[in-house]
Amino acid sequence: MANSDEPLPQPDSPELAAFLPRTDHQQLYAYLFERRNDPPSMREIRTYMLDLLGEAPSQTDRRVRELYDQFKVSKFRRGKDTLYRLDGWADNRKGNPRTSFNRRTRAQVLAPQRCAQCGRTPLDHNVVLVVDHKIPREWGGSDNIENLQPLCEECNSGKKDFYATYDEYADEIRAASSLLEPHARIGELLKAFRGDWVPSELIGVVASIQTHQEDWQKRTRELRHLDWVIMSKRRKDPRTGRHITWYRAAHWEPWPDGSIRAEIERRKRDGDSSVAD
Ligand SMILES: [Zn+2]
Repeated sequence: MANSDEPLPQPDSPELAAFLPRTDHQQLYAYLFERRNDPPSMREIRTYMLDLLGEAPSQTDRRVRELYDQFKVSKFRRGKDTLYRLDGWADNRKGNPRTSFNRRTRAQVLAPQRCAQCGRTPLDHNVVLVVDHKIPREWGGSDNIENLQPLCEECNSGKKDFYATYDEYADEIRAASSLLEPHARIGELLKAFRGDWVPSELIGVVASIQTHQEDWQKRTRELRHLDWVIMSKRRKDPRTGRHITWYRAAHWEPWPDGSIRAEIERRKRDGDSSVAD
């Protein structure tokens, strides 16, 4: 295994091919390698891969994420863009993070023999079940059994595409996910989108990342007690065609010192009647 500060392989080298057997990954690598001193934004990466391979943006996003198994790609913000810089080998690239649980755990997760999302079974519907991380590892999800579920390959790949859409926010989502209080996780997620609409599904995932949150929609609305302006709308999810709720923070305030929940309860008690739950 290469050490994380060993020099990066040249594009088109046999060494690179050993780590990235697929040519589409190699081409993406070559692009990021050439632009190490002038890192591209995700928009530029998508345009490049679209021109080169006719690839859809969601495919490119996923491919960038797949590169993280082997290589360290630092993300930083310049103006409105997030830039992606190839920085070296991944620190922790022993083994494949997607198969890091053992065979017994795997058998236990797959035991229901039913896709947790669409309900289809291998026996009745001839689907193949895989072990899915409810909360992706890249966002701080663990290999604990509570974070694992059986999904059919189709649902699993749809879910991967969904998460890949938010890859440019991955660092902020990971930071939000690491916070202890659910209100803070939700609030920091909304802030990461800088006033853009966030689909409720994503809020639910981040809210539940440490402990399951049954009532995360209520937690989201409760931010209004802290003088946040939280807007919501029902719109079609372009991915599934279903109508879902979207939230956005049009205005936010600094977090109170101490417990956020206690401060919200205190404000509710003090007759903060302007806020409806
Ligand atoms: Zn399914």
